[in-house]
Amino acid sequence: MSLSNQQPNTPHQDVSIKKVFDVEEVRKDFPILQRQVHGNPLVYLDSGASAQKPQSVIDVIARYYSEQHANIHRGVHHLSQEATQAYEDAREIIRKYINAEHSHEVLFTKGTTDSINLVASSFGRKFLNEGDEVIISALEHHSNIVPWQMVCEERGASMKVIPINQAGELDMVAFESLLSNRTRLVAVTHVSNSLGTVTPVDKIIELSHGKNIPVLLDGAQAVPHMHIDVQAMDVDFYAFSGHKIFGPTGVGILYGKEALLNQMPPYQGGGDMIEKVTFEKTTYNTLPHKFEAGTPNIVGGIGLGAAITYFIQFDEQSILDHEQDILHYATEQLSQIQGVKFIGTATNKASVISFLIEGSHPFDVGTLLDQQGIAVRTGHHCTQPLMDFYGIPGTVRASFAIYNNRADVDALVAGVKRAASMLL
Ligand code: PLP
Repeated sequence: MSLSNQQPNTPHQDVSIKKVFDVEEVRKDFPILQRQVHGNPLVYLDSGASAQKPQSVIDVIARYYSEQHANIHRGVHHLSQEATQAYEDAREIIRKYINAEHSHEVLFTKGTTDSINLVASSFGRKFLNEGDEVIISALEHHSNIVPWQMVCEERGASMKVIPINQAGELDMVAFESLLSNRTRLVAVTHVSNSLGTVTPVDKIIELSHGKNIPVLLDGAQAVPHMHIDVQAMDVDFYAFSGHKIFGPTGVGILYGKEALLNQMPPYQGGGDMIEKVTFEKTTYNTLPHKFEAGTPNIVGGIGLGAAITYFIQFDEQSILDHEQDILHYATEQLSQIQGVKFIGTATNKASVISFLIEGSHPFDVGTLLDQQGIAVRTGHHCTQPLMDFYGIPGTVRASFAIYNNRADVDALVAGVKRAASMLL
């Protein structure tokens, strides 16, 4: 199923005919899955931290550097124009994928963290004043907490936090009561990276818009698992990272509604984002360039376009069904191991399982699994306040992607049994 002979960075490719999803075929597209770790076949269950790359993405990156590279948006020479075209083609692929109305609403950033910092810094500077409030949730990754803390401190504003129940679901009654005429923005995660909870984003947006409050969604963990349609959601800002959706690291996206982005000041100053510079005054370029100062991660953008081209060749529902099957199978199998305790049991979950083996530290479990070639995440997952809520230092987290199969789950279950027998 490798796309390596095609030109994945063209937006004109017909993706309306979807391939039948077959996990064993998908696995062949990811060369890293063939390798061994500590003498065992790699079982990669850390896609929530960063997903692996299909051959088609690797090929596009290699081809770009061997045949196309030049700086973009500036040169009249052929290579510069070719590289510019490939980069802008990638933006168009991403626009189509998230169904943004305009390609200039799709900003290239370094990743989710950078996208949220852009909004906090630019929107915050423009719209946050003394006494204003930003609402986040108890599920947030540090990258959707700290930027708001920083800008709130600077502007004399404050942060309100939507509480959760023990299952890790947002308390929507509390959310409604937090919305006030001082609220300037609601910034919440679409899917919790630590627990897998899928948050009720439609309701959050409906309630917020009812009070004319814009909403930012952190889509870092949602984009690799479900179809995103920013217009159907009517979301104001949507942030995600390339590397979690099978693309390169160091590139991500901020979608923003044109009307809002036009009102916001630039995030960083430098080349490309200007219209005219004099020592007395600078005027700024139009969208998206106003927010894209300096030479961007050109190959990152092109690689992300290729990653999305790879991803959208499959029918969305069959990906969702496959990942839900893996999630339920893993949950059921792990629950039979004595001492395993799940952290986060929301009804609506993406394919993430956080757990503990009672009486042992997550790092010890992670180390013993690693020795068996099984890569899981351990620790607080950049959600320290969420770990504080559960009164734990961290969890063991298995996060699944399109290339994981039931054999991976079986290896995890055997590994956890072995770790439990050694630790308890
Ligand atoms: N938000 C969530 C929910 C995440 O899971 C992550 C990364 O794990 C981030 C934000 C930060 O993403 P990045 O490090 O790619 O900027």
